Amino acid sequence: MPGYELFGAEERKEVNDVLETGILMRYGFDGPRKGIWKAKELEQEICKYFGSKHAQLVSSGTAALSTAMAALGIGKGDEVIIPTFTFVASFEAIVGVGAIPVLVDIDDTLTLDPEAVANAITSKTKAIMPVHMCGSMAQLDELRNLCDKHNLFLIEDACQAIGGKYKGEYLGTIGKVGTFSFDFVKIMTCGEGGVVLTNDAQLAEKCDQYSDHGHDHYGKDRGADLHPYLGYNYRISELHAAVGLAQIRKMDYFLELQKRNHRIIYDCLKNISGLSFRRIPDKEGDTGSFLSFFLPNAEQAKNVALALAEAGIGANPYWYDNNWHYIRKWEHLKNAAFLNRISDEQKQAMMHYANQAFPSSDAIMSRCISSAISLAWTEDQAQERGRKMAEIITQIITA
Ligand SMILES: *Cc1c(COP(=O)(O)O)cnc(C)c1O
Repeated sequence: MPGYELFGAEERKEVNDVLETGILMRYGFDGPRKGIWKAKELEQEICKYFGSKHAQLVSSGTAALSTAMAALGIGKGDEVIIPTFTFVASFEAIVGVGAIPVLVDIDDTLTLDPEAVANAITSKTKAIMPVHMCGSMAQLDELRNLCDKHNLFLIEDACQAIGGKYKGEYLGTIGKVGTFSFDFVKIMTCGEGGVVLTNDAQLAEKCDQYSDHGHDHYGKDRGADLHPYLGYNYRISELHAAVGLAQIRKMDYFLELQKRNHRIIYDCLKNISGLSFRRIPDKEGDTGSFLSFFLPNAEQAKNVALALAEAGIGANPYWYDNNWHYIRKWEHLKNAAFLNRISDEQKQAMMHYANQAFPSSDAIMSRCISSAISLAWTEDQAQERGRKMAEIITQIITA
């Protein structure tokens, strides 16, 4: 699953280049940096690898989402549609720009149900934000059609699906904007970091400026830069970018290993009667970072998660009970437990979720387990793990 598992000499070399000059900042210091521009270089490699015209590195995936929405002009009173199954960062970023997260059901793809999305569109909707959860993709054709029909932005949260593809195009490059996270547990890591991808030059320039206090970046003297509008500091450091540079050069290898180990586990489980698998809109494009499957009922799913943990087979999250990835445990959102004061409109919208049920999402998530795929397993280790998993799952289904 995560690139940190294969951290090594390549990362150390890139970081060392930065340590040699001592210029840890990505902008300015043109002389003393002696030609070392890790963030710039990583942006260029990201554009090349993923086929995006522009890439703006920032300090996190959350910052990437915030920057993308600010650049799109999304703010007060605007609604952004997101799935009930995602990471909390999705609504943090939306609320942060003053907008309202509209949570809608997922389906057996574990991503936005296009029909539920269609039903949630109002005159205030500005964007649809599919989240490509657990390494695999949303139904992008259907969502893109909805965006075209209603004149909405398609914002891809591809933070968990770096290197995945949909019909030949990399996830994150298909919508108006896309975002990756390079936090420590993502498919490739910078330690902390993120990126906004877009083919729109004007939008890219706004992201570049917004993520650096509004600096216009027109000249060589930062102090003389103008500030066309307010921004924030969402900059990535050269040290973090250096790690990412080593990681992106190993992406092909990461994906190859991940897909191999994914296939091994899948082959061990695929014939278990009663077990079904997540629907993947484009199987070819799956990154293989998780294998997600469904038990016949919720009790069995819970028991499988427990039994796997007891057998020492780790990293098989049962998301339904997870505090961070499913709406059921987001009491802080439902209580509008903000430290800062927010608008009444936002507050009411949040508190509305305390009383809204999501039976369709519950029916799927309560039966789902996602098994994380490690890059560190040998083929034999993956085989052994798959064999033990199959034994435990079969036992529980037939009990
Ligand atoms: C990790 C993640 C983010 C946020 O990334 P950070 O870099 O940790 O801020 C956003 N969305 C999803 C789906 C994620 O998994």
